Amino acid sequence: MKLSDFPRHQLTFGPSPIQALPRLTRHLGSATVWAKREDCNSGLAFGGNKVRKLEYIVPDVLASGADTLVSIGGYQSNHTRQVAAVAAHLGLKCRLVQEKWVPWEDPMNDKVGNILLSRMMGADSRLDPHGFDIGIRDSWKQALAEVEEAGGKPYPIPAGASEHDLGGLGFANWAFEVAKQERALGVTFDTIIVCTVTCSTHAGMIAGFAALEDLTGVRRRVIGIDASATLEQTRAQLERIARHTAEKIELGRELRDDEFTLLPEWAGDLYGVPVDSTMAAMNLGAELEAFITDPVYEGKSLAGLIDLVKSKAIPAESQVLYAHLGGQPALNAYHRLWS
Ligand code: PLP
Repeated sequence: MKLSDFPRHQLTFGPSPIQALPRLTRHLGSATVWAKREDCNSGLAFGGNKVRKLEYIVPDVLASGADTLVSIGGYQSNHTRQVAAVAAHLGLKCRLVQEKWVPWEDPMNDKVGNILLSRMMGADSRLDPHGFDIGIRDSWKQALAEVEEAGGKPYPIPAGASEHDLGGLGFANWAFEVAKQERALGVTFDTIIVCTVTCSTHAGMIAGFAALEDLTGVRRRVIGIDASATLEQTRAQLERIARHTAEKIELGRELRDDEFTLLPEWAGDLYGVPVDSTMAAMNLGAELEAFITDPVYEGKSLAGLIDLVKSKAIPAESQVLYAHLGGQPALNAYHRLWS
């Protein structure tokens, strides 16, 4: 099926805005930096990258007759907050497994931010002591079974909606949205920077930009900045989901090795734990552009962008598009970093 033939249930406002970041660009003194703002893409509980993925999953949810969305993430998962938002929007129930993915001991880390919003939207959000893993989890399977035993009809949405058959389509379409916006702006973005953890954001982009390249001949670099700190597992998941998505949208060729770039240098040692470069990037974005990023995801990918632009690993004549995927609701759960 062609990408445009897949059913899409609109949850976003429409194309997410692209903004120039002139003060950051001047400060870095090399390539021109822009951002596409998935962090304000929807009216559903602040939006984010998962809302865009879920646009292609909701038609399947509705067709299934399910009455409960069941998903999983860390205590401060942005994904589960967006699943809770979509459930509320559709009038469905929501059961969330919130695992202790991050050894972060700020008081209230398991109560404020994303988890507070999910509970406010009516989700049955339960804490689980298991640690970080981007794969399929037993705790999630258990939650699915519990919903069924209680007479409900669950709809399974894995972590980050990434291992879902349709999980890559939202960001495959993002590539075509970028191409339309480029025509309006009179710019071609040759480099895209994206944060990668459960992978369907980056994987979808790889498939989408590959399809666009085959249509237009324009070749770009999609640079994933790893924030999982489990690089080998993440790289394997990225390749699998990108290839699956490419096949789904009938790319008609194998993805090339040079279409996969996943850089580990800014992840630190652990998922969810910021390092010096994360802190410096978050503070720089905030001070120069009121560009707010979080310590788990976007602070790490912004740190990658800063170093790659500054060092001219990204050439000075480049137009760089940073995908801002959301994540700010977690900030209150990390108050210790600024207090
Ligand atoms: N940025 C934010 C704010 C996120 O919530 C996520 C979710 O995991 C990511 C980046 C990474 O996206 P993905 O899980 O699709 O790799």
